[in-house]
Amino acid sequence: MDNTVLHVADVHKSFAGLHALSDIDLSVKEGETHAIIGPNGAGKSTLLNVCIGRLKPDTGHVVFDGENLTGRAPHEINQLGVVRVFQTPEIFPDLNLLENVMVPILAKRDGSFKLRWFRRFWSEVDVRKKATDILEDLGLGPQIQSLATSLSRGDKRRLELAMGLAQEPRLLLLDEPTAGMARHDTNATIDLLKKIKASGMTKVIIEHDMHVVFSLADRISVLAGGRIICQGTPEEVKNDPRVKEAYLGEEQV
Ligand code: ADP
Ligand code: MG
Repeated sequence: MDNTVLHVADVHKSFAGLHALSDIDLSVKEGETHAIIGPNGAGKSTLLNVCIGRLKPDTGHVVFDGENLTGRAPHEINQLGVVRVFQTPEIFPDLNLLENVMVPILAKRDGSFKLRWFRRFWSEVDVRKKATDILEDLGLGPQIQSLATSLSRGDKRRLELAMGLAQEPRLLLLDEPTAGMARHDTNATIDLLKKIKASGMTKVIIEHDMHVVFSLADRISVLAGGRIICQGTPEEVKNDPRVKEAYLGEEQV
């Protein structure tokens, strides 16, 4: 058996006649960092939404860890260990960082989470310790008691990542982790993601910034007009004339 964790097979998705995704075939192996790149409107977010169950493909299917995800609800897919971070800010602005990271730990453990139950579990030493460890690992240790709302944009992203890691993902999906970041924060995020990569976690990353992509990806799929036009190692993709063409008028690859 090969070690494929995620397999997207022959997926199509249209919106009112617009082919957002056509003939998508994609495999991600255990421990791999797989980048999905492509110009605006290429279908990247649609593909991610199909993987997490927010969108149902018109045809084709998505298999994760041997389980067919097609038609399953997002929370069921999440409970299988598929975690997406970054597209929408999902932090609790009025809780401190420690509390923010405790929420997904408790939610995972108890299957659901209601804020009113929160205080009851607050004293649980193991949950606090785990949340603290994750935050310290991501360099947020000094701000553990700060309210999430007080964080800089870059640190908010870091907190979202901490909340994602708290769910112990088997597959981490990152939607433009460095969007809107200054170069300094982007570099810090690359370092963090390299650290996560070293831990062996399987990741799919959508990213516009080629510096980020080429720093992290083991393999790259290039989407254009809803189709995968090229798949390969960073070197292969970089030198593919179809990719250069797809990006004409956009940034340089
Ligand atoms: P990307 O993330 O690569 O920029 P998207 O996946 O967001 O691209 O979009 C792919 C195409 O599908 C675009 O033409 C976009 O306008 C269209 N699209 C995406 N979501 C919807 C939707 N919910 N309804 C209609 N069209 C959509
Ligand atoms: Mg998008």
